[in-house]
This record gives sequence, C-alpha cells and structure tokens, in this order.
Amino acid sequence: MTSANPSPGDVPEKIVAALDRIARGLRSHRQSVASRVGLTPLQLELLQTIDESPRPVIGLLAKELEVSQPTVSDSLLALERKGHVVRRRSDTDRRRTTMELTDSGRELVGEVRRAGEILRSSVAALAGPDQEAVLDILLSLIGNLLDAGIIQVARTCRTCRFYDHRDGLDARCALLQIPLPPAALRVDCPEHEPLLAS
Ligand code: SF4
Repeated sequence: MTSANPSPGDVPEKIVAALDRIARGLRSHRQSVASRVGLTPLQLELLQTIDESPRPVIGLLAKELEVSQPTVSDSLLALERKGHVVRRRSDTDRRRTTMELTDSGRELVGEVRRAGEILRSSVAALAGPDQEAVLDILLSLIGNLLDAGIIQVARTCRTCRFYDHRDGLDARCALLQIPLPPAALRVDCPEHEPLLAS
C-alpha cells in the first residue's frame, strides 16, 4: 500500500509540499481579510495586482490573475462602487484606461501584505548567502513554471529580455545598465519585458 505521506528521503516532494503549505496559508489569510471587509478573494487579489502592476489595464490584469476579461471588469465595477479603485485615462495612450487604488484600496492591500511581512522577517533572519540561495532557487522555479505555462506572468530578471548573463561575464541589466549580482535580481520589476520568442 502506498503511504499518503512522502518518504523521509523524498526531499523534492517535501519542498513542493512546503511551498504549497505557504501558498495556502497566504491564500487563507487573504480570504479572511476579504470576508471581513466585504469583498471576494478575487476582488482583494485584484487590488493587490493593480498596486503591483506597472500597467494595470484590464487585459493584463486578467492575464495575471488567470481569469477572463469580463470577470475582471465585473470585479472592477464592484471595487469602483465601493470606492477602492478609480479609472484614469493613460498618459501615454488616451484610448486606454488604467486603474488606480484610492486611499481605502491601498489600506486594504496593506492589510493583506501584513502576512507577507511575517514571512519577510523570517527570511531576513537567515544568513545572507542562505537568503541569496533561496532567492536563486525560487527565481529558477518561477522561470520553470513560466516555461511550462503553469504561470502566465512573471516580471523577474531571469525571465526578462534585458537580463544579460553571457558566459564569463557578471550578470547585468542591459536596459538600466546596472550589475545584477544574485542579491540584486528583481522579482517584480516595472521595466521587465518578456524574453523574445525564438
Ligand atoms: S529590466 Fe528589470 S527585470 Fe529586466 S533585467 Fe533589468 S532589472 Fe531585471
């Protein structure tokens, strides 16, 4: 009979289970904040995504949240009615509308992030090289999940067309002209552009 638990030596399976546990904890925290403030978990996630997105337009928000555009539009209408977001004409393209958080929207995002703060201080207690190793591994995992189509959006250096890491040279950002040692690699960069399809 197969055991329901991974065997003691099955480290990859245990790591995946641990990541899943963390993701579920964060999701459950978001759900409890959402129900306390009278939003759906998707509406709360949408607020957070608008706050993090360099270009919060409906199509990109839908892609990032992996839901349809009509679903995002409905959630945005609800958030507008509750006074948590406003629409603005894009400065660069007047035909486009972008979303902005109001003060109350920003307050809600801050509340969701408090769970992330607990994680952040746990990681900050690790030695510097261990922090860099964790970051390196997580960025590799994100890249692999993106390649496999399991996640649709990643704004990391390793998935960016400006990440210059030719053999024998230290990694650099070809756009910003800055060195990118392991600790400087970005996880959510506003200047990120996806790798060009080969
Ligand atoms: S543009 Fe941003 S994500 Fe891309 S390589 Fe430069 S710093 Fe990294």
